[in-house]
Parts: sequence; structure tokens; C-alpha cells
Amino acid sequence: MIPFLSLHPVNERYRVEIDSAIKRVLDHGWYLLGEELTNFERNFAEYCGTKFCVGVANGLDALDLILRAYGFGPGDEILVPANTFIATFLAISRNGCTPVPVEPDPKTFNIDPAKIEAGITSRTRAIMPVHLYGQSAEMEPIRNIADQFGLKVIEDAAQAHGAFYLGKRAGNLGDAAGFSFYPGKNLGCLGDGGAVTTNDAELAEKIRALRNYGSLEKYVHLYSGMNSRLDEIQAAILNVKLKYLDEDNQKRREIARFYRENIKNPCVELPAVNDEKGHVWHLFVIRSSRRDELRRYLEEHGIGTQIHYPIPPHKQGAYAEWNGHSFPIAERLSREVLSLPMSPVLTIEEISNVTTHINSFN
Ligand SMILES: *Cc1c(COP(=O)(O)O)cnc(C)c1O
Repeated sequence: MIPFLSLHPVNERYRVEIDSAIKRVLDHGWYLLGEELTNFERNFAEYCGTKFCVGVANGLDALDLILRAYGFGPGDEILVPANTFIATFLAISRNGCTPVPVEPDPKTFNIDPAKIEAGITSRTRAIMPVHLYGQSAEMEPIRNIADQFGLKVIEDAAQAHGAFYLGKRAGNLGDAAGFSFYPGKNLGCLGDGGAVTTNDAELAEKIRALRNYGSLEKYVHLYSGMNSRLDEIQAAILNVKLKYLDEDNQKRREIARFYRENIKNPCVELPAVNDEKGHVWHLFVIRSSRRDELRRYLEEHGIGTQIHYPIPPHKQGAYAEWNGHSFPIAERLSREVLSLPMSPVLTIEEISNVTTHINSFN
């Protein structure tokens, strides 16, 4: 049996270091907003190439806090890819803003820059591209459109820790970026976690306050904030795992290369890659018009797969106001995409087995 993703062996590799990181926090007796977090924020900012990093409770809050810190609210529109995870939309609507879906490029799965302008109105405030499945969105044309219309560019980098675009890391490709450290992400902790990266000192400072009841000084509340902190234990674990992120991403690249070189089946379309070295393969997503049959076939042969995502946000009950709208490319992708097993601990035998079974499906 090859599961779609098994996290135990991923973290088992670092058991000794993770144990001692947790012990350090326990020995120290300081659990929130301490030196583990400060160290992680410095390390992750340096890794991304940004001036600032602010640790928060999860990826959804990271995106939410960026919008909040910019002061966006009811009436403001934010452009998002129509085929993203629901959290990108929720961060926008939680602030009272309106998510405006834009169709993706069906080859790269990322927001199609050529379709952005049609979605811009006088109320548009920002574009929120998602580096879906670990491949950076086309940030240069997106930046140009944003500059032309005076919009912010906010990266949803929750699937792209370590990804590159034109020599810069995800997290350093817009005005601000939100990361998630959910256990299954390329950089995952042992619970929930997230971070904002930015080069904007004022924004970083405001988010630092907003994550902690709107306060920088105890019991002095500048803003109506929330409680969204990355705790010391998770920060200590992330400090361990960050050291191995590039190595893990390289393993993902090798697995992706194997799949791309060896999967040969006329019913299957392989993912398009813009930049071989920049993609971090959070997910390896193929397309097939016979997706459901293929998924069942693989399941019968002991291979687990997933669908990211089976229902686009605009077709969800949570966004009833969008249910009547049609985004045919995103809808088609939701019927055709299939995520194959992908993790830095997969063996050559396992990925050969997956490949053999995909090739024998007819
Ligand atoms: C995981 C994810 C998020 C949300 O992160 P959480 O830490 O689970 O809140 C947001 N956007 C995308 C694209 C994600 O994959």
C-alpha cells in the first residue's frame, strides 16, 4: 500500500532534534512570543530573502492579517484564482472584502495574468495570486498590472516554501506573503502554524501588534486585534525542519522528474513546468478526463491519491452568491485533476510502482 501522504516517516527523520527542541522549550518554561519564535522569524525571513517575518497561528490568519493591516474591508475587492483552496477566499471574506475569482491557466494551474485586467473595478484593492502546488505564479506580469492600477500584490505562498521565480524566493515576490506550516506542507510543524513575510516595516509592525490583541506593549491596545501567535514549541520544531527544507524540496524535484519522464499514458496529461529549479512540488497533479476511473483503478492497486480540489470555492455553499457564476476552466480542472503520492520520503520502488500502474490503465 502506498498512501497518498504519510507524515510519520517525514518527521521521524528528525526525531532526535525535534525531541531536543521540545525539551528546550519545556526546560526554558516560556511558551509564547519568546526566543524560539524570534529565532524562527529571523531564520525564515533570511531564507525567503525578506526583511521581516511575523509568525502567526496558521496560514488563513497570515493572509487575513495582511488584509487587515492594509485596512481593507467591506466594499473592497480582491482578485484571486478561481481554483484555489478555500482559505484564500476565506481570508478575504473574513475581512468583509469580496473575493473576485479569476480563471487559471489550465497548463500551469496558476492565475492567468491575461484574465486579471477584466476583473479589475474601481473597488479592486489587491491581487492575491496563489503559488499553487508549489510553482510560482507569473509574478512579473501580475506586478505590472498591479502597478498600473495601484493594487497590492499579496502572495498566498502556503504551498510554495522555497520556490523560486526569476531568482527570488516565494514570500519575496509581492508586497506581502502568507505561509502555512500545516503538517502536510513542504515546511510543516506538528500542529498549526503560519507566517507573514514582507519588506514593509510598517506592515510587519502592524501585523506584530494585530496577532497579539492589537498590542505591542502589554495592556496597551493600538488596534482591535486578534490572538494569532505561532507558539514556542512549533517555532522550535520549525527551526529544526527549516534546515532541511532545501534538501527535501530537491527530493520532491527528483520524484517529479521521475514521474514526468516515465508516466506515459494517452489518458493522462502531465503538469507543465515553467522553471525546473524553481518548482517545489508541494503536489504532483496530473489531469485526466477519466480521472475518477483512474483514481479507482489506482486505489484497487493499493495506491492512494487525492483531489485538489474537487469543488471550486465559487461552487461551495459558503459562497452561495457566486454559485450562479461560471468559471469553466476552474470547473473543468476540478473534474480532471488528480494528485499522486508526493513526499520527500518516497522510495524509487514506490514511485516506480505508481508509474507502472498509471501506465497500465486503459
Ligand atoms: C494550506 C493552505 C492555506 C491555509 O493554511 P492553514 O495553515 O491550513 O490555515 C491557504 N492557502 C493555500 C493555498 C493552502 O494550501
